[in-house]
Amino acid sequence: MPSYAFVDGQYVPRHLAALPLEDRATNFGDGIYEVWVVAQSKLVDEEKHFARLERSLGELKIPMPMEQKAIAQHVRRLIRRNNIKFGTVYLQISRGASKRDHVPAANITPSITIFTNNKPALAEARRAPKKLKIITGPDLRWARRDIKSTSLLPNVMLRMEAHQQGCHEAWMVDDQGMVTEGTSSSSWIVTSEKTVVTRALSNDILPGVTRDTVCELIAQAGYKFEERGFSVEEAKHAAEAFVTSATNFVGPVVEIDGTTIGNGQIGEVTNKLRDLYLRAAGL
Ligand code: PLP
Repeated sequence: MPSYAFVDGQYVPRHLAALPLEDRATNFGDGIYEVWVVAQSKLVDEEKHFARLERSLGELKIPMPMEQKAIAQHVRRLIRRNNIKFGTVYLQISRGASKRDHVPAANITPSITIFTNNKPALAEARRAPKKLKIITGPDLRWARRDIKSTSLLPNVMLRMEAHQQGCHEAWMVDDQGMVTEGTSSSSWIVTSEKTVVTRALSNDILPGVTRDTVCELIAQAGYKFEERGFSVEEAKHAAEAFVTSATNFVGPVVEIDGTTIGNGQIGEVTNKLRDLYLRAAGL
């Protein structure tokens, strides 16, 4: 059975799905995206991702191509059609296509594409947490990192570097030596007093949906919590470190730039938060 993609109102076999040559997400990175995890055929953190989608579009003055309810319906239809029990949904909205010019045509209409990925291995998430090794590097991005834009070049370059070094993720570091976030995840540490620390929300980082849910779980579990910046040095000496993202959930970090974190095993607080998150997500 072929996998289908949704492109501007049509369901098309995934291998035939295409965007126009002058689509602005391709030519300019002029678009936004969202990624959901699917667990038991349901979207994890559905509403929070939709809220961020609408916010990102608003900040870029790209109109919603259709009502949220209609988009959600198409997403669900695609999950059913592609028989996704565990997997991911990628949704992209581009400002649209018009003759390549920095100023778009006045009558341009946004384009929407949605595709799914089948990942049955996600069902095993609880049993097989991957211990993550990360590197750090300069944060070369623009000043509106709170927008989930398809312009991801600095993230891609640094992630390629991490991959080349046999690592899973890279944490980006600002001019003051403070960690902003991962190339596709939020960054966290746990101090020796078991205080959970992550950078406060601002234009410097993406407001991670998983971050938000984990903040709720920290409160529920009764851990101390500080929203503040931390340096690479502090992270290397932390008791625990982890990342959060829709696809990593709560991902334990065991090595930063070759330095082992704690005893090199998954920390107690990280493990607890991971477990709480996976339960809440239906995984
Ligand atoms: N930060 C960046 C730069 C990201 O790209 C992502 C996810 O792709 C995140 C953080 C984590 O966000 P979420 O938890 O919504 O997946």
